[in-house]
Amino acid sequence: MAGYIDGLVQDVRSGKTTARALVEQALEKAKETESYHALLSLTAERALERADAIDQTIAGGKAPGRLAGVPFVVKDNFLAFGAPTTAASKMLEHYDAPLQATAVEKLEAEGAICIGKANLDAFAHGGSTENSAYGVTMNAHDTTKVAGGSSGGSAVVTALDVVPFALGTDTGGSIRQPASFNGVYGMKPTYGMISRYGVVAMASGTDVIGCFAKDAADIALVTDVMAGQDWRDMTTLPDFFAPQDTVPEKLRIGVVKDMMTDDVDASVRQATEAYVGRLEAAGHVVDYVDMPIVKHTLAMYYIIVPAEVSSNLARYDGVRYGLRAEGVKTLAELYGKSRSEGFVTENKRRIMIGSFVLSSGYYDAYYNQAQKARTLLIEAYNKLFESHDVLISPTAPTTAFGIGENTDDPIKMYLSDVMTVPASLAGLPALNVPAGEDTSGLPIGVQLTGPQKSDALLIALAQSMEEK
Ligand code: GLN
Repeated sequence: MAGYIDGLVQDVRSGKTTARALVEQALEKAKETESYHALLSLTAERALERADAIDQTIAGGKAPGRLAGVPFVVKDNFLAFGAPTTAASKMLEHYDAPLQATAVEKLEAEGAICIGKANLDAFAHGGSTENSAYGVTMNAHDTTKVAGGSSGGSAVVTALDVVPFALGTDTGGSIRQPASFNGVYGMKPTYGMISRYGVVAMASGTDVIGCFAKDAADIALVTDVMAGQDWRDMTTLPDFFAPQDTVPEKLRIGVVKDMMTDDVDASVRQATEAYVGRLEAAGHVVDYVDMPIVKHTLAMYYIIVPAEVSSNLARYDGVRYGLRAEGVKTLAELYGKSRSEGFVTENKRRIMIGSFVLSSGYYDAYYNQAQKARTLLIEAYNKLFESHDVLISPTAPTTAFGIGENTDDPIKMYLSDVMTVPASLAGLPALNVPAGEDTSGLPIGVQLTGPQKSDALLIALAQSMEEK
């Protein structure tokens, strides 16, 4: 089934509209919604040039690509031309990308047009976009609430219809949780499905690239364009993604009990149960499954990820690129002052935790232990997938929380990742599907998780439920 983006592309190709008109519209919408602070920069000049080139291609009778003229936004940790790549940090405030991320290149090769770069938690560390060095992004449904994060800006521009799709990165939930908070689809693909080349690394072992969109067919289309092996990212897998139009009858679906506890908002549990009811009505076989290891996954994640973060962020030393501190006398001072000025508090917290858990004497007690526990988590998933095709849970334990509500309490902030980090640590595909709202009108999302490489099935399942 064709989605919204397919329709747009048809209109561009048939001459009903033009790439320029779509880009101008998106830029206008970006201006109108400026107060949400979802975008850090616009790439207007380059976008309009590209639009004209695509319109000329069409006028010349040549094939303009599967995404001809479709405007999109990238999270500002993707290297992309037309504006600096800041990762929402002071460290990279003036960093102009020398190349573009593979994902961006692939989208452009099919005629899509990047119009701007979205706000995030600096270096993608966070779950609310409050850790941006450039100010907070507001939720699309209530400006007193957070956008979620770390890909908050990308979720908000999608929800506000600035663009039909936007790119994000997901290390522990950064696509799924903001998608849930803003009522849009957000896909975290199987680890290795889409190249990470040209994306600012957070934790290389769980970082993935994915997209936000308004319908499942659009997620399938954009994901399909981005997927595939890339020799510049040695962790990429040969392309296995093939969008599917139908889902098998009687899928075996497990509701993860350990993600439906009393700690989860009643409204979120009810919305999840309602979606489960609809799956049953559609003929699927649903039961409740135990996954006790879930309660230990945050502890694993907040050891393993900071360890990788501390290593990945070591490159920002004030010497090679990014911010260089002034008025220093020694090399040690240069490193210290540049890093102290260039990173936000959350970046520093993670560098400290990461250095600690990797230090000799503590390595075995923390890092190694966490990796062993991660293996147990993977085994628990494997076991469940022997008897189930798909698992379902809420995407987050709450709806969007208030701006400032959790900023003084990092542990409380980390708790909002409790549903999303398990799939990240196991490298599994997981999709946020909008599933209603709470009594104050804030969106609720459910998360569909499947075995590795079941991405197309998850999207098709979500799509089949749209029609019901
Ligand atoms: N909120 C999670 C964290 O702070 C996830 C971040 C992400 O996926 N980039 O680590």
